[in-house]
Amino acid sequence: MTTDTEPLYPWQEAQFRHLTKLCVDNRLPHALLLSGPTHVGKAHFTQHLVQYLLCRTPADLACGSCDTCLLVKAGTHPDNRQIGLVDSKQIKVEQIRDIRDWESQTANQGGRKVCVIKPAETMNHQAANALLKSLEEPSPGTILILITHQAARLLPTIRSRCHRVDFHLPPAKEAGTWLRARHELQMDAETLLEMAGGSPLKVINEIDETFLKNRQTLAQAMLPLARGTGSPLQLATQFAKENAVQLLEIFYNLIADSLQHSLTDYKLPIKNKDLYDILKEYGELASLEQRFTLLDSITQALGYLASTANANPQMLLERVLSQTALEV
Ligand SMILES: [Zn+2]
Repeated sequence: MTTDTEPLYPWQEAQFRHLTKLCVDNRLPHALLLSGPTHVGKAHFTQHLVQYLLCRTPADLACGSCDTCLLVKAGTHPDNRQIGLVDSKQIKVEQIRDIRDWESQTANQGGRKVCVIKPAETMNHQAANALLKSLEEPSPGTILILITHQAARLLPTIRSRCHRVDFHLPPAKEAGTWLRARHELQMDAETLLEMAGGSPLKVINEIDETFLKNRQTLAQAMLPLARGTGSPLQLATQFAKENAVQLLEIFYNLIADSLQHSLTDYKLPIKNKDLYDILKEYGELASLEQRFTLLDSITQALGYLASTANANPQMLLERVLSQTALEV
């Protein structure tokens, strides 16, 4: 873990109070499942929780200054394990077996031991089965924290043995207020939040100048691509050094917005409202069927990028862009 001095986000304070209350009452379950969409701040929450669980003098929060707090902040606390993806898209059984060995040892600092598994849904079948043993026969004083944004992909037997805590995006108004108070924004907070699917953390972490520039380039290319006068190859080459997942997500949202327009007769709000004119014109050119097919292709490309280390992002992007050309 890296040093993290940012306070708890206001939209996760209730979950923190719930868990610290269980802790104070000596009722904290030995396994927690922190579940919720991406970009909601689960890892940030976990950093605070781990620090609290290991702190020597916790109050409402960890003290932040005792020796164990400092070790957690530095990512070097011997009683805190972090299990994640290492050169693979799966958490492997060896990683889980290591936890079993570690669980059986006495805590170095004489307190609890805390192990974080993230993203928990990437445990392969063997790893998940190995973890079940830890869940069925917990070691006293050890807390397992599983983090996931796809709880449905976990074995039901794992889900049922964990105390689940759900995380949600903050209401739009609260998110906007928080953003405006803390960050200099490049556009109005509402538009940025719509682009980020409602997540203020995604606005901060992803919607930077490059994102906005790429979104603009993709939007400007939609009409020429549809008419067959733009070159998918040239555009994909231009994007060669950019983040393909982000580009595909931007493109998905542009196409989805144009569908939203067409299907609701312009009545429902869209994510890219500043690009209204382009999206409207595109919607008049492309049929519903063509756009739904395009969304399927983007979803497939994203799935491929997520599941295979060998995917060729530029080729996938070019293939999607070339499908934007309308058949005449
Ligand atoms: Zn402390």
